[in-house]
Amino acid sequence: MLSTGARRDLERQVGAAHLHTRPADLAAYAFDAFGASGERRLPDAVVLPATTEEVRGVVRVCARHGLPVVPRGAGTGYAAGAVARHGGVILNLCRMNRILGLEVEGRRLHAEAGVVTAAIHRRAAAAGLHYPPDPGSATTSTIGGNVACNAAGPHAFRYGTTADFLVGATAVLGDGEIVQLGEAGGRSDAPPLLGLLAGSEGTLAVITEVVLRLLPAPAARATLAARFAGLEAAFGAVAEIARQGLVPAALEFLDRSALEAVARTGIVAVPGGAALVLVELEGGEATVRAEVEAAGSALSSAGAVRLDRAADSAEAARLWEVRKAVSAAVATVMVGKINEDVVVPRDRIAELVARTEEIGTRHRVPVVNFGHLGDGNLHVTFLIDPRLPGERARGDAAGADLFETVLAMGGSLSGEHGVGTTKLAYAERQLGAAGMGLMRRVKQRYDPGGLLNPGIKLPEPGTAAGGIA
Ligand SMILES: Cc1cc2nc3c(=O)[nH]c(=O)nc-3n(C[C@H](O)[C@H](O)[C@H](O)COP(=O)(O)OP(=O)(O)OC[C@H]3O[C@@H](n4cnc5c(N)ncnc54)[C@H](O)[C@@H]3O)c2cc1C
Repeated sequence: MLSTGARRDLERQVGAAHLHTRPADLAAYAFDAFGASGERRLPDAVVLPATTEEVRGVVRVCARHGLPVVPRGAGTGYAAGAVARHGGVILNLCRMNRILGLEVEGRRLHAEAGVVTAAIHRRAAAAGLHYPPDPGSATTSTIGGNVACNAAGPHAFRYGTTADFLVGATAVLGDGEIVQLGEAGGRSDAPPLLGLLAGSEGTLAVITEVVLRLLPAPAARATLAARFAGLEAAFGAVAEIARQGLVPAALEFLDRSALEAVARTGIVAVPGGAALVLVELEGGEATVRAEVEAAGSALSSAGAVRLDRAADSAEAARLWEVRKAVSAAVATVMVGKINEDVVVPRDRIAELVARTEEIGTRHRVPVVNFGHLGDGNLHVTFLIDPRLPGERARGDAAGADLFETVLAMGGSLSGEHGVGTTKLAYAERQLGAAGMGLMRRVKQRYDPGGLLNPGIKLPEPGTAAGGIA
């Protein structure tokens, strides 16, 4: 509960209309994406600043009153990073939603942190340019949230993640200092921070503006969708594409359960089969023509039971609809889902899929698999009904089993969703004590008061999280 003094001071920063404290107004901020993480907690307040200076003012008020600050974009994160685990103030950046500039020659876009990712795609495309990072949540997520989670998506295979396009930022540190980093100009006495912001999950600074590098739009683009009767053939096709030296812009996979979930929503772009592989090729006209032939023959020779090639962009969008709908579609199959985004070396993905099925059977939870095959990034989703006794615990045990499996396979806990609170217990297992120590020193450097997103990404000293080693 906010003290009268804290409420008065926050109101002075953002105005009464942009400060929420009634439980009814806070309820929507108690969880993130579908409540998938299971983490729920009402913040004490939500503030909606409109400028970097207002963000600084809010951070300073919170520091004075000892209130944690939780930056939040659209709340689509899967790791509970935007949930106020210790109460405090959620700093909702959604009013900072202006694209501040686009330099066509310089291929740079300058935007406030609350701009929705798809608006950046549209603005770049209108100028004949291309911003490749495309999380499945792009029509909802914010660019600030994308930087904070280092969001990826299907096209990360060829182009890289959000970090690879971030060339400047304005941010507010835990003591209220405003820093302008990289191409955001001005002073840059915290130069390493720009690289650290990507993936910092709101723990080092509140990002208020970003400068993004853009690419020329590819001259040609082609999409192929192949259905396979079994998983083995689907993974064989992917291996064949790699053997041919092709680096598609995207190489995506959905298993039978994922396809069934999507079909329930009425989207049946490519019917039949037990697995779908989507391949997108981009580049010069002649290159794409040649690569379509090569990829098509790789998919056919691996045993595709059906192969569709999009004839135009409308047809490509129809094929992609299946992939784009999958996260939300899977969420409608059961009341709850636990969505992990683990990574293993690409040539072990078939083995990982088989292991997830064993894990699902062992813990008696249905499992759905889809993901970015090119990166070895598999979205393993355990379906649960948390209203039933023991079901959440069984789902969590399946998740723990998955993390053990992935670490034993030389993989990583998260390809793109982040650590948040959901993977805290395993962070030290992956990074080791030295890695965690380094992260603590970085946190100390930029947020010495521990004000920003406490309990996220780094286990709090003295807690059991991280103690599984
Ligand atoms: C249907 C669906 C599909 C998805 N597909 C993908 C995908 O393909 N690839 C992918 O990478 N992710 C995906 N996600 C996950 C999620 O959308 C991304 O992590 C996204 O980057 C989160 O953005 P957001 O604005 O919603 O951030 P939020 O959920 O609001 O916040 C996420 C984290 O970022 C921090 N944060 C947010 N804004 C700021 C800021 N301005 N300054 C500092 N910290 C901040 C928060 O504190 C929190 O720790 C998907 C989610 C859904 C629901």
